[in-house]
Amino acid sequence: TKRCKGSGRIETHQTHIFAEARSQFAMETALRHAIEQRRLRLAYQPICDLATGAIASFEALARWTDVDGTEHSPVSFIPVAEESGLIVPLGRWAIDEAARTLADWDRQAGGHCGARLAVNLSAIQMQRDIVAPVVGDALRRHGLTGDRFSLELTESAIVSDPDRVAQTMHALKALGCKLAMDDFGTGYSNLAYLQSLPIDILKIDRSFVTGMLADRDKVAIVRAILSLAQALGMQTTAEGVETTELSQTLAALGCTNGQGYFYARPLESDAALAMLLASRPATSSAIAATR
Ligand code: C2E
Ligand code: MG
Ligand code: MG
Ligand code: MG
Repeated sequence: TKRCKGSGRIETHQTHIFAEARSQFAMETALRHAIEQRRLRLAYQPICDLATGAIASFEALARWTDVDGTEHSPVSFIPVAEESGLIVPLGRWAIDEAARTLADWDRQAGGHCGARLAVNLSAIQMQRDIVAPVVGDALRRHGLTGDRFSLELTESAIVSDPDRVAQTMHALKALGCKLAMDDFGTGYSNLAYLQSLPIDILKIDRSFVTGMLADRDKVAIVRAILSLAQALGMQTTAEGVETTELSQTLAALGCTNGQGYFYARPLESDAALAMLLASRPATSSAIAATR
Protein backbone atom coordinates (compact mmCIF):
# COMPACT_ATOMS: atom_id res chain seq x y z
CA THR A 1 0.00 0.00 0.00
CA LYS A 2 2.97 2.27 0.47
CA ARG A 3 3.30 2.77 -3.28
CA CYS A 4 -0.29 3.96 -3.78
CA LYS A 5 -0.74 7.65 -3.90
CA GLY A 6 -2.80 9.03 -1.06
CA SER A 7 -2.49 5.93 1.08
CA GLY A 8 -0.17 7.73 3.46
CA ARG A 9 -3.16 9.24 5.12
CA ILE A 10 -4.70 5.83 5.78
CA GLU A 11 -1.44 4.46 7.11
CA THR A 12 -1.02 7.47 9.40
CA HIS A 13 -4.57 6.98 10.63
CA GLN A 14 -3.92 3.29 11.33
CA THR A 15 -0.65 4.07 13.05
CA HIS A 16 -2.55 6.49 15.21
CA ILE A 17 -5.17 3.88 16.11
CA PHE A 18 -2.47 1.34 16.99
CA ALA A 19 -0.59 3.87 19.09
CA GLU A 20 -3.79 4.73 20.92
CA ALA A 21 -4.66 1.07 21.54
CA ARG A 22 -1.14 0.47 22.82
CA SER A 23 -1.28 3.41 25.19
CA GLN A 24 -4.75 2.35 26.41
CA PHE A 25 -3.35 -1.10 27.08
CA ALA A 26 -0.27 0.32 28.81
CA MET A 27 -2.50 2.44 31.02
CA GLU A 28 -4.74 -0.52 31.79
CA THR A 29 -1.73 -2.61 32.89
CA ALA A 30 -0.33 0.20 35.00
CA LEU A 31 -3.74 0.86 36.55
CA ARG A 32 -4.20 -2.83 37.39
CA HIS A 33 -0.88 -2.79 39.24
CA ALA A 34 -1.70 0.48 40.98
CA ILE A 35 -4.96 -1.01 42.28
CA GLU A 36 -3.29 -4.26 43.38
CA GLN A 37 -0.45 -2.40 45.09
CA ARG A 38 -2.88 0.05 46.69
CA ARG A 39 -1.23 3.06 45.11
CA LEU A 40 -4.46 4.95 44.36
CA ARG A 41 -5.65 7.47 46.89
CA LEU A 42 -8.69 9.65 47.43
CA ALA A 43 -8.75 13.44 47.51
CA TYR A 44 -11.56 15.18 49.39
CA GLN A 45 -13.29 18.35 48.19
CA PRO A 46 -15.65 20.21 50.54
CA ILE A 47 -19.28 20.82 49.59
CA CYS A 48 -20.45 23.90 51.48
CA ASP A 49 -23.70 25.52 52.52
CA LEU A 50 -23.87 28.49 50.11
CA ALA A 51 -25.59 30.72 52.67
CA THR A 52 -23.28 30.11 55.65
CA GLY A 53 -20.13 28.58 54.12
CA ALA A 54 -20.36 25.67 56.58
CA ILE A 55 -18.98 22.37 55.27
CA ALA A 56 -21.83 19.94 54.64
CA SER A 57 -19.85 17.08 53.14
CA PHE A 58 -16.81 16.14 51.09
CA GLU A 59 -16.70 14.47 47.69
CA ALA A 60 -14.09 11.69 47.49
CA LEU A 61 -12.20 11.83 44.17
CA ALA A 62 -9.77 9.16 42.97
CA ARG A 63 -6.13 10.17 42.46
CA TRP A 64 -3.34 8.18 40.83
CA THR A 65 0.31 9.11 40.81
CA ASP A 66 2.19 6.61 38.60
CA VAL A 67 5.51 5.07 39.69
CA ASP A 68 7.33 7.42 37.30
CA GLY A 69 5.66 10.40 38.97
CA THR A 70 3.01 11.00 36.29
CA GLU A 71 -0.25 12.30 37.75
CA HIS A 72 -3.10 10.68 35.78
CA SER A 73 -6.47 12.44 35.75
CA PRO A 74 -9.59 10.44 36.57
CA VAL A 75 -11.01 11.91 33.37
CA SER A 76 -8.57 9.60 31.54
CA PHE A 77 -8.22 6.59 33.87
CA ILE A 78 -11.87 6.11 34.89
CA PRO A 79 -12.89 5.41 31.24
CA VAL A 80 -9.99 2.91 30.97
CA ALA A 81 -11.16 1.30 34.21
CA GLU A 82 -14.69 1.07 32.81
CA GLU A 83 -13.61 -0.47 29.50
CA SER A 84 -11.35 -3.03 31.17
CA GLY A 85 -13.62 -4.02 34.05
CA LEU A 86 -11.12 -2.60 36.56
CA ILE A 87 -13.88 -0.22 37.67
CA VAL A 88 -15.19 -3.06 39.89
CA PRO A 89 -12.07 -3.40 42.10
CA LEU A 90 -11.42 0.35 41.83
CA GLY A 91 -14.98 1.15 42.88
CA ARG A 92 -14.86 -1.31 45.78
CA TRP A 93 -11.57 0.19 46.92
CA ALA A 94 -12.99 3.75 46.75
CA ILE A 95 -16.02 2.80 48.88
CA ASP A 96 -13.88 1.07 51.51
CA GLU A 97 -11.22 3.78 51.53
CA ALA A 98 -13.85 6.53 51.97
CA ALA A 99 -15.41 4.66 54.90
CA ARG A 100 -11.98 4.05 56.45
CA THR A 101 -11.16 7.77 56.16
CA LEU A 102 -14.45 8.84 57.69
CA ALA A 103 -13.98 6.49 60.67
CA ASP A 104 -10.45 7.86 61.05
CA TRP A 105 -11.74 11.48 60.98
CA ASP A 106 -14.32 10.61 63.66
CA ARG A 107 -11.56 9.15 65.84
CA GLN A 108 -9.39 12.23 65.38
CA ALA A 109 -12.34 14.55 66.06
CA GLY A 110 -13.22 12.64 69.24
CA GLY A 111 -16.73 11.85 68.00
CA HIS A 112 -18.88 12.55 64.93
CA CYS A 113 -16.56 14.72 62.80
CA GLY A 114 -19.57 16.57 61.41
CA ALA A 115 -19.28 15.66 57.75
CA ARG A 116 -20.66 13.19 55.28
CA LEU A 117 -18.66 11.68 52.40
CA ALA A 118 -19.85 11.40 48.81
CA VAL A 119 -18.51 8.59 46.62
CA ASN A 120 -18.93 8.39 42.84
CA LEU A 121 -20.51 5.33 41.24
CA SER A 122 -20.04 4.68 37.54
CA ALA A 123 -22.77 3.27 35.30
CA ILE A 124 -20.61 0.29 34.36
CA GLN A 125 -19.69 -0.38 37.97
CA MET A 126 -23.42 -0.51 38.81
CA GLN A 127 -24.03 -2.97 35.96
CA ARG A 128 -21.18 -5.27 36.93
CA ASP A 129 -21.08 -5.18 40.72
CA ILE A 130 -23.52 -5.53 43.58
CA VAL A 131 -22.89 -2.04 44.89
CA ALA A 132 -25.34 -1.82 47.80
CA PRO A 133 -23.95 -4.88 49.66
CA VAL A 134 -20.42 -3.54 49.06
CA VAL A 135 -21.42 -0.24 50.69
CA GLY A 136 -23.17 -2.08 53.53
CA ASP A 137 -20.04 -4.17 54.21
CA ALA A 138 -17.79 -1.10 54.22
CA LEU A 139 -20.09 0.72 56.67
CA ARG A 140 -20.17 -2.29 58.98
CA ARG A 141 -16.43 -2.89 58.77
CA HIS A 142 -15.69 0.70 59.76
CA GLY A 143 -18.52 1.10 62.27
CA LEU A 144 -20.43 3.82 60.42
CA THR A 145 -24.13 4.46 59.93
CA GLY A 146 -25.46 4.80 56.40
CA ASP A 147 -26.41 8.46 56.80
CA ARG A 148 -22.70 9.33 56.72
CA PHE A 149 -22.48 8.39 53.05
CA SER A 150 -23.90 9.71 49.85
CA LEU A 151 -23.48 8.12 46.47
CA GLU A 152 -23.24 10.14 43.25
CA LEU A 153 -24.51 8.63 40.04
CA THR A 154 -25.02 10.04 36.58
CA GLU A 155 -27.99 9.98 34.26
CA SER A 156 -26.08 7.52 32.05
CA ALA A 157 -26.31 4.94 34.86
CA ILE A 158 -30.09 5.21 34.88
CA VAL A 159 -30.36 4.99 31.10
CA SER A 160 -28.06 1.98 30.91
CA ASP A 161 -30.05 -0.40 33.11
CA PRO A 162 -33.05 1.30 34.75
CA ASP A 163 -34.42 -1.69 36.68
CA ARG A 164 -31.13 -2.80 38.14
CA VAL A 165 -30.14 0.77 39.04
CA ALA A 166 -33.52 1.42 40.69
CA GLN A 167 -33.07 -1.73 42.78
CA THR A 168 -29.55 -0.64 43.82
CA MET A 169 -30.78 2.85 44.67
CA HIS A 170 -33.58 1.55 46.89
CA ALA A 171 -31.12 -0.79 48.63
CA LEU A 172 -28.74 2.14 49.27
CA LYS A 173 -31.62 4.21 50.66
CA ALA A 174 -32.53 1.30 52.94
CA LEU A 175 -28.99 1.52 54.34
CA GLY A 176 -29.69 5.20 55.14
CA CYS A 177 -27.44 6.66 52.42
CA LYS A 178 -28.27 9.78 50.41
CA LEU A 179 -28.30 9.70 46.62
CA ALA A 180 -27.14 12.49 44.34
CA MET A 181 -27.61 12.89 40.61
CA ASP A 182 -24.19 14.03 39.35
CA ASP A 183 -23.58 16.41 36.42
CA PHE A 184 -27.33 17.00 36.18
CA GLY A 185 -28.48 18.45 32.88
CA THR A 186 -25.82 16.88 30.69
CA GLY A 187 -27.33 13.42 30.20
CA TYR A 188 -29.80 12.34 27.55
CA SER A 189 -32.29 10.88 29.93
CA ASN A 190 -36.03 11.03 30.30
CA LEU A 191 -36.91 13.28 33.25
CA ALA A 192 -39.60 10.85 34.38
CA TYR A 193 -37.00 9.02 36.44
CA LEU A 194 -36.84 12.01 38.81
CA GLN A 195 -40.26 11.20 40.25
CA SER A 196 -39.82 7.44 40.43
CA LEU A 197 -36.31 7.17 41.88
CA PRO A 198 -35.27 8.07 45.45
CA ILE A 199 -32.96 10.99 44.60
CA ASP A 200 -32.09 13.44 47.40
CA ILE A 201 -29.74 15.87 45.67
CA LEU A 202 -29.34 17.31 42.17
CA LYS A 203 -25.80 18.42 41.37
CA ILE A 204 -25.97 21.15 38.75
CA ASP A 205 -23.27 20.50 36.16
CA ARG A 206 -20.32 22.86 36.14
CA SER A 207 -20.94 23.75 32.48
CA PHE A 208 -24.07 25.72 33.50
CA VAL A 209 -22.33 27.44 36.42
CA THR A 210 -19.07 28.48 34.76
CA GLY A 211 -19.68 31.84 33.09
CA MET A 212 -23.32 32.09 34.21
CA LEU A 213 -22.86 35.64 35.53
CA ALA A 214 -22.40 36.83 31.95
CA ASP A 215 -24.86 34.48 30.29
CA ARG A 216 -28.62 34.84 30.74
CA ASP A 217 -29.29 31.48 29.11
CA LYS A 218 -27.19 29.70 31.71
CA VAL A 219 -28.98 31.56 34.51
CA ALA A 220 -32.28 30.45 32.99
CA ILE A 221 -31.16 26.81 32.99
CA VAL A 222 -29.88 27.03 36.57
CA ARG A 223 -33.17 28.61 37.69
CA ALA A 224 -35.16 25.89 35.95
CA ILE A 225 -33.12 23.13 37.63
CA LEU A 226 -33.51 24.83 41.03
CA SER A 227 -37.28 25.13 40.72
CA LEU A 228 -37.56 21.54 39.50
CA ALA A 229 -35.53 20.37 42.51
CA GLN A 230 -37.59 22.48 44.89
CA ALA A 231 -40.87 21.18 43.50
CA LEU A 232 -39.63 17.61 43.92
CA GLY A 233 -38.27 18.23 47.42
CA MET A 234 -34.63 17.72 46.50
CA GLN A 235 -31.54 19.57 47.65
CA THR A 236 -29.21 21.19 45.12
CA THR A 237 -25.44 21.46 44.83
CA ALA A 238 -23.82 23.73 42.25
CA GLU A 239 -20.54 22.43 40.83
CA GLY A 240 -17.69 24.72 39.73
CA VAL A 241 -18.24 27.55 42.24
CA GLU A 242 -14.99 29.44 41.64
CA THR A 243 -15.77 32.97 42.89
CA THR A 244 -17.52 34.84 45.72
CA GLU A 245 -19.90 36.37 43.16
CA LEU A 246 -20.99 32.94 41.96
CA SER A 247 -21.55 31.69 45.53
CA GLN A 248 -23.66 34.76 46.34
CA THR A 249 -25.71 34.64 43.14
CA LEU A 250 -26.39 30.92 43.53
CA ALA A 251 -27.40 31.41 47.17
CA ALA A 252 -29.76 34.22 46.12
CA LEU A 253 -31.31 31.94 43.49
CA GLY A 254 -32.06 29.41 46.25
CA CYS A 255 -29.37 26.81 45.58
CA THR A 256 -28.54 24.92 48.80
CA ASN A 257 -24.89 23.90 48.47
CA GLY A 258 -21.83 24.72 46.40
CA GLN A 259 -18.61 22.94 45.49
CA GLY A 260 -15.64 24.47 43.76
CA TYR A 261 -12.28 26.19 43.89
CA PHE A 262 -13.81 29.18 45.75
CA TYR A 263 -14.13 26.91 48.80
CA ALA A 264 -11.23 24.54 48.16
CA ARG A 265 -9.64 22.28 45.59
CA PRO A 266 -9.74 18.54 46.30
CA LEU A 267 -7.50 18.06 49.36
CA GLU A 268 -5.41 15.28 50.87
CA SER A 269 -7.18 13.61 53.80
CA ASP A 270 -5.22 15.45 56.56
CA ALA A 271 -5.80 18.86 54.98
CA ALA A 272 -9.51 18.12 54.51
CA LEU A 273 -9.91 17.13 58.18
CA ALA A 274 -7.97 20.23 59.30
CA MET A 275 -10.29 22.43 57.22
CA LEU A 276 -13.34 20.70 58.69
CA LEU A 277 -12.16 21.01 62.29
CA ALA A 278 -11.17 24.67 61.81
CA SER A 279 -14.59 25.50 60.36
CA ARG A 280 -16.65 23.83 63.07
CA PRO A 281 -18.41 26.15 65.48
CA ALA A 282 -16.88 25.97 68.98
CA THR A 283 -19.93 24.18 70.39
CA SER A 284 -20.05 21.35 67.88
CA SER A 285 -17.51 19.18 69.70
CA ALA A 286 -19.63 19.50 72.84
CA ILE A 287 -22.70 18.49 70.80
CA ALA A 288 -20.79 15.57 69.31
CA ALA A 289 -19.75 14.47 72.79
CA THR A 290 -23.38 14.23 73.93
CA ARG A 291 -24.56 12.20 70.93
P1 C2E B 1 -17.35 14.72 39.20
O1 C2E B 1 -17.88 13.61 40.02
O2 C2E B 1 -18.32 15.63 38.56
O3 C2E B 1 -16.35 15.52 40.18
C1 C2E B 1 -16.15 16.91 40.13
C2 C2E B 1 -14.93 17.26 39.32
O4 C2E B 1 -14.87 18.68 39.16
C3 C2E B 1 -13.60 16.86 39.98
O5 C2E B 1 -12.67 16.55 38.93
C4 C2E B 1 -13.20 18.17 40.66
O6 C2E B 1 -11.81 18.25 40.93
C5 C2E B 1 -13.64 19.17 39.63
N1 C2E B 1 -13.88 20.50 40.21
C6 C2E B 1 -14.37 20.78 41.43
N2 C2E B 1 -14.51 22.11 41.63
C7 C2E B 1 -14.11 22.70 40.48
C8 C2E B 1 -14.04 24.07 40.05
O7 C2E B 1 -14.36 25.02 40.76
N3 C2E B 1 -13.58 24.30 38.79
C9 C2E B 1 -13.20 23.28 37.96
N4 C2E B 1 -12.75 23.59 36.75
N5 C2E B 1 -13.27 21.97 38.33
C10 C2E B 1 -13.72 21.69 39.57
P2 C2E B 1 -11.74 15.27 38.99
O8 C2E B 1 -11.28 15.00 40.39
O9 C2E B 1 -10.73 15.42 37.91
O10 C2E B 1 -12.74 14.09 38.60
C11 C2E B 1 -13.33 14.04 37.34
C12 C2E B 1 -14.41 13.01 37.27
O11 C2E B 1 -13.86 11.70 37.41
C13 C2E B 1 -15.46 13.12 38.37
O12 C2E B 1 -16.38 14.13 38.04
C14 C2E B 1 -16.05 11.73 38.34
O13 C2E B 1 -16.99 11.60 37.31
C15 C2E B 1 -14.83 10.87 37.99
N6 C2E B 1 -14.30 10.25 39.21
C16 C2E B 1 -13.37 10.71 40.09
N7 C2E B 1 -13.15 9.82 41.08
C17 C2E B 1 -13.97 8.76 40.83
C18 C2E B 1 -14.21 7.50 41.51
O14 C2E B 1 -13.67 7.17 42.57
N8 C2E B 1 -15.13 6.66 40.91
C19 C2E B 1 -15.78 6.98 39.75
N9 C2E B 1 -16.67 6.12 39.23
N10 C2E B 1 -15.58 8.16 39.12
C20 C2E B 1 -14.69 9.03 39.65
MG1 MG C 1 -19.21 13.43 41.49
MG1 MG D 1 -20.13 16.19 39.09
MG1 MG E 1 -18.56 16.78 36.55
